[in-house]
Amino acid sequence: MNITGAVLEEIGATRPFAESRPITLSELELDDPGPGEILVQIEAAGVCHSDLSVVDGNRVRPVPMLLGHEAAGRILGLGAGAGGSGRSKLSVGDRVVITFLPRCGACASCATNGRLPCEIGTAANNAGTLVGGERRLSRDGVPVNHHLGVSAFATHVVVNRTSVVRVDDDVPADVAAVLGCAVLTGGGAVLNAGRPALGDTVMVVGLGGVGMAAVLTAIAAGHPVVGVDTLPEKLERALALGASEAFTPAELAESGVTASVVVEAAGNARAFETAISGTSAGGTTVTVGLPSPTAMASVSPLSLVAGARTIVGSYLGSAVPQRDIPRYVELWRAGRLPVEELISSRISLDGINRAMDDLADGHAIRQLIEFSAP
Ligand SMILES: [Zn+2]
Ligand SMILES: [Zn+2]
Repeated sequence: MNITGAVLEEIGATRPFAESRPITLSELELDDPGPGEILVQIEAAGVCHSDLSVVDGNRVRPVPMLLGHEAAGRILGLGAGAGGSGRSKLSVGDRVVITFLPRCGACASCATNGRLPCEIGTAANNAGTLVGGERRLSRDGVPVNHHLGVSAFATHVVVNRTSVVRVDDDVPADVAAVLGCAVLTGGGAVLNAGRPALGDTVMVVGLGGVGMAAVLTAIAAGHPVVGVDTLPEKLERALALGASEAFTPAELAESGVTASVVVEAAGNARAFETAISGTSAGGTTVTVGLPSPTAMASVSPLSLVAGARTIVGSYLGSAVPQRDIPRYVELWRAGRLPVEELISSRISLDGINRAMDDLADGHAIRQLIEFSAP
């Protein structure tokens, strides 16, 4: 079928992207779903830092690539054997959260309870293919790469069934979309990787979509929360969402405030250093941001030893989407996890280059691309 999608043509374009326009809206051909794959009509897609990281070259991926990895939509078609059975059964018409790390469920890493990303899913993501090595996207007969097995900045996608989690119809598409990356990653950084004890304070450094999702999740779990960001507007937002205190990194250093669990969600080395210095003795620093591969941080080994501190790296919030998304849905349904508060603006697909500028400038939490019904 023919679809419209936002294709990244070149890596490392000059800012502002609204002028250099590295992403173009294109007509593409989308193949039918193969065995184990599904066709989904996209309803909503979030603009995440991991999209920007491909645009600015911090994460080198093959181009042309149809970006977008946080989304929700409805199943329009099922390839052979993709329906499955039992609790993971998928049917035409179901609403699904699409997640950016397919889990085969059979490799050694999939057996680590979320600690390690799936080997097969990671290899496919790095190659710009779906699990199984196929590309279902092309333009004028030339293959176009998939982004993290999703490529959701498009009217329709074909994804592997292991990339989706079914949700009930009472979960709106915008809520379902942000569950797929921001909440899985930020929430998982707190609950799966940080594992705060009852009453522990949780600090979050970097208040973008993932960081704010960590704030909301920690509050939902009953923890006092400290927010840290360089931008005053983000600090105000964290306080409005229920954080007890909020500081710039300089204010935090001056205040001497620390926490038992500190989540770094900014994706830069200075934020990582701030997170370590904000970690109490006996506490845990969780780093979930994705800095440039060349970024280096400075850490005092003595402070780790003398303070019995732990540093934990967590990819995708150490999440198992099939296990974790239903938990976040339950918290949302109970009114304890208002994930719609993460959505800072709603845009259409043609605003994607400007959206990358806004994200790079730090002035967005989650910009949501909405797709009108046909
Ligand atoms: Zn993301
Ligand atoms: Zn696996």
